[in-house]
Amino acid sequence: MPTPFEGGCMCGGVRYRCEAEPGMTYYCHCEDCRRGSGSAFHVGLGVSKDAVTVLKGEPKSFRKEADSGRGITRMFCPTCGSPLFTYPDVWPDIVMIKAGSVDEPELFEPNIEIYTDSKVSWAHIGPTVESYPKGRA
Ligand SMILES: [Zn+2]
Ligand SMILES: [Zn+2]
Repeated sequence: MPTPFEGGCMCGGVRYRCEAEPGMTYYCHCEDCRRGSGSAFHVGLGVSKDAVTVLKGEPKSFRKEADSGRGITRMFCPTCGSPLFTYPDVWPDIVMIKAGSVDEPELFEPNIEIYTDSKVSWAHIGPTVESYPKGRA
């Protein structure tokens, strides 16, 4: 994926730039990601926290304890509500960018899916991704 790349929310109120190549691109089927995305699953790009700069606007945050027992802070646009990033306690140096917020989502392709234990039966990803019933250790 060419870097830097940029993204933002639906209304354009929040814009960000990422300077690093994502280290992990994945689908997550856990219940929190389902509800937080409003879709059947979340698609995330894991990058180093330092690599992401908010260029415009100020995302709001919401924190919740995750299935793992550790917290996740979810960031979203205060105006249009688009989800943008998540910060998992378990990896304090990492931010997960919501893949749907990237300007050019064709530039990457997730290769694993996690929390398939919680997967909605009709939410098929396809046979080319590695599946993990819970998180990836
Ligand atoms: Zn917005
Ligand atoms: Zn999840």
